[in-house]
Amino acid sequence: MTESNESQAWSARHSSELYGIEEWGGGYFGVSPEGEVVVRSPSNGQAGATVSLMDIAHGLQQRGLEMPVLLRLENLVDSRISILNESFAQAMETTGYQGCYRGAFPIKVNQQSHIVAEIARFGERYNHGLEAGSKAELMIALSTLQNRESLIICNGYKDAEFIDLGLQARKLGFKCFFVLETPAEVPLIIERSRALGVDPLIGARLKLSTKVEGHWSEDSGDRSLFGLTAIQLVEVVDSLREAGLLHCFQLLHFHLGSQIPNIRSIRAGVFEACRYYIDLVAEGAPLGYMDLGGGLAIDYDGTCSTSGHSRNYSVQEYCVDVVEAIQQALDPHDIEHPVIVTESGRATVAHTSVLLFNILDVGHFDPAPLPEALPEDSHAQLANLWHAIRVIAANNLQESYNDVTYYRDQIRDMFHRGEISLRERAFGENLYLAGLQKIAALLPELKRIPAELETLPQQLADIYYGNFSVFQSLPDSWAIEQVFPVMPIHRLNEKPTRQAIIADLTCDCDGKLDRFAGPHGNTETLSVHPVKASEEYYLGVFLVGAYQETLGDLHNLFGDTNVASIRINNEGGMEFVHELHGDSIADVLSYVEYDPQAMFKQFRATAEQAVRDGRITVSDRQEMLAAFTDSLRGYTYFER
Ligand SMILES: *Cc1c(COP(=O)(O)O)cnc(C)c1O
Repeated sequence: MTESNESQAWSARHSSELYGIEEWGGGYFGVSPEGEVVVRSPSNGQAGATVSLMDIAHGLQQRGLEMPVLLRLENLVDSRISILNESFAQAMETTGYQGCYRGAFPIKVNQQSHIVAEIARFGERYNHGLEAGSKAELMIALSTLQNRESLIICNGYKDAEFIDLGLQARKLGFKCFFVLETPAEVPLIIERSRALGVDPLIGARLKLSTKVEGHWSEDSGDRSLFGLTAIQLVEVVDSLREAGLLHCFQLLHFHLGSQIPNIRSIRAGVFEACRYYIDLVAEGAPLGYMDLGGGLAIDYDGTCSTSGHSRNYSVQEYCVDVVEAIQQALDPHDIEHPVIVTESGRATVAHTSVLLFNILDVGHFDPAPLPEALPEDSHAQLANLWHAIRVIAANNLQESYNDVTYYRDQIRDMFHRGEISLRERAFGENLYLAGLQKIAALLPELKRIPAELETLPQQLADIYYGNFSVFQSLPDSWAIEQVFPVMPIHRLNEKPTRQAIIADLTCDCDGKLDRFAGPHGNTETLSVHPVKASEEYYLGVFLVGAYQETLGDLHNLFGDTNVASIRINNEGGMEFVHELHGDSIADVLSYVEYDPQAMFKQFRATAEQAVRDGRITVSDRQEMLAAFTDSLRGYTYFER
């Protein structure tokens, strides 16, 4: 098949399979017949309207929001909250569970006010609450939640001020729980509740011995940093009883870690927690709430497996397993079914955000075209290299690789000794690249690829320079090697003929994306289209709504990106609900304690002096000062 026939035969469907978008997209993302990534807005279980990300990107540009942009698709948060609540309701109905479900979104996972406000607004119908890990987050919860049936769960270490705030919330009628992280919090809670004259709602965080796989495995097990041991739990029961507050002990909490890949660990954790539940009830604690913390995982790589970037269960299966496990454990003891609480963060907000950016430049490792014949007066080693390339064939790839690499090294040595010229060396290097390309092109014909040649395609991959910062926008990609789905958002009915890694703007060797997980396995390179001079090329990084925003840092002083919240309506139209311009250069400078005004004054004085010294004209000075001011106001990313 010729190149052009091949791209004619390529369709949006091929792209959809190549990038695995239907696997990791959770039903929210797909490829349109026009070859663009679309967002589907599910409503009432129906597929709902679809909108192209390219149309959104154009709309953003018309509003002056340049790339990179963090796009928040509000409908998707709503959909996730519905799925979680409806799935628990369904599981409880089919199994005859007597209690109910109450979600509490952990604010730390995405603290942005529009996200938290949307969760509170939409979640009200389900009495969906919030989880706070600090005073600041509790203040967010108190000022956002309207519904008194929703829970506010306070985790983390609590000082008197934190406790007072929570007790005031109790007076206002909020179901605000203090989850004990250490027994040391008990006397303070007792003292403050007496001082304010209100009974607290108390929970205890268990340190379970159930171990889970995945990055957060340290959150569980005996050496976990968090939670009460059996010894401490007994102490807590005794002190509460003594203070006459055992009736306030109403919630049992555990958190096995985030992104738990294997459903069997969750079930094991629930069983273990139920053992505590049964005996605490026997001790006289009323309980009534069983809080499983977070951990409900996202299928980032679309493999539906126990790989660290996936999970081997669906939300529905999670709910059924949890409900069944609690029933099975408690029913033999005739204990009333507790309210099931989960603090699902990732599962609620990961889908909602997409990072969009454009490609600024491409680095190639393609050889320049070779001449028809070797120039007559070529050095013997160049002739050897030339010959070695001509004989490359599928049955001698390792041998050929050894040969071309040997001659390339000889040529470099000769250059160092002054025996060949710069031009001759350049000719040799180009031959070498041509040899590697030829070898790489034949690799797919082999049944078993020699170890040394496995990374060859990656060594020859293009570098696509993206207009974003990994450190600011995808910190987990750098910090914990988290994999996020990445793909072009247009030209998808065109075959992507290049393999590339993505480098960001930071010029840091860690500032890159070079692990791409997908349903067809992990790869070190991404299939992309050749960039055209006449049009921008856009990529999207998906499922970035959880944890990425506030963990991001100011590496190289790239600041917050532009942000746009979008709502898709049932007719397939979109509303730009909210737009936020990212940090200006003056903003990021002030974060590291520069005073942009003082900087301007200093620069102006330097320019003044240059005018007095006759090095620049007065109008040069004007121009320079205007450029300086413009830059201070400008976006920290690359502007065209
Ligand atoms: C981080 C955290 C969560 C959220 O976990 P997800 O896996 O994102 O759902 C919930 N509860 C506690 C105590 C946490 O520390």
